[in-house]
Amino acid sequence: MFFQCPNCKKTWQYPIDKCLDCFVALERMETKKAKIIGVSKTTVSTIQHKNVPYFVLLLEDEKGNKWAQKSKKEYKKGEEVVLEAKNGKNVVAIWRIKYDVLEGIERTIDLLGGLMINQEDGSSSLQINSETKILILPALDSPKHPYFAANTNPKFLEGMVRYLIKIGANTKNIKVVAQSFSEIPIEASAQKSLLFKTCLDYGIIPMDLSSTNFIKKTGEGMNFEISQEVFDAGLIINLPILKIGKASSSENILKFLKKENYLGLKYLQPSEEIVEKLNNILPPYLTVSDGEVIQKSNQFTFFLGIVMAGFNPLNIDRVFNEIVMFKDLPESLKKIKIEDMEIVGREIEEVQCDAEKI
Ligand SMILES: [Zn+2]
Repeated sequence: MFFQCPNCKKTWQYPIDKCLDCFVALERMETKKAKIIGVSKTTVSTIQHKNVPYFVLLLEDEKGNKWAQKSKKEYKKGEEVVLEAKNGKNVVAIWRIKYDVLEGIERTIDLLGGLMINQEDGSSSLQINSETKILILPALDSPKHPYFAANTNPKFLEGMVRYLIKIGANTKNIKVVAQSFSEIPIEASAQKSLLFKTCLDYGIIPMDLSSTNFIKKTGEGMNFEISQEVFDAGLIINLPILKIGKASSSENILKFLKKENYLGLKYLQPSEEIVEKLNNILPPYLTVSDGEVIQKSNQFTFFLGIVMAGFNPLNIDRVFNEIVMFKDLPESLKKIKIEDMEIVGREIEEVQCDAEKI
């Protein structure tokens, strides 16, 4: 994605707010096509790019913007790069970003076929309009500043809200929900993480799920108490942040449960089992995972620069841990075979890095 000054027409590849010369707000340059104008093959591996050989493509869009991109596949000069969308419950979309989370969110959702997918196989949502009631569940687990990457980044929530507005949603019908499963009041985490501020910036009222009604549901012998808000929404978006060695995308949805219900269930079985059974009861929901700056297993952070999306968050967690080359997988992810996975956008090898060694 490129950004242009409407005044002097200078362009940038980064979402800086204002033109450095004119101090005018930059505009996004929406482009559709990319043509290969150069290819080079790399045969020397580095920590960030372990698998060789790979290709570095020089691309140019229809407006003359040029950029480089890593590719597993070899292309010929003059070829056009076409991104094909795929839908289905198990597809995982990956996109690489350079600080522009809105582009990542937009691309990954488009790669899944947009917000209008088959109801039958459960991979569904619907075409949204200004009346659609939308529920967004960011990861909000601790009272920490965004740079710790403990909670969904406020910029990522903002990107999602901007995307929804762009495709026709009304912020009056968007609810950002959260719940504390610990002793820490949710308000403290919401403030410190700056997610609360993002909500206010867009006139969205944040909601504490613990104050909502809970509905009893039973699935495969497990008794759940799920917030009524989930069943009232027309579109549910799970908006977690990725964490190395964790199943953070799938476990985030446990926040839809009543706290006591969750603690009771967790006492008896591992959380992955709860997630699996809960997924069969919840209405279809979309997961879009924040992978821009992420936590390693030692909780230090680093810039990975990806966004992932799909209708099965367990698949997202599995693919993510493959991307960061994490071997000691959580139980829930061990049985998911990476070979069976359908991936769109960028290939695992193109964004892969040995994250724990960086
Ligand atoms: Zn300018």
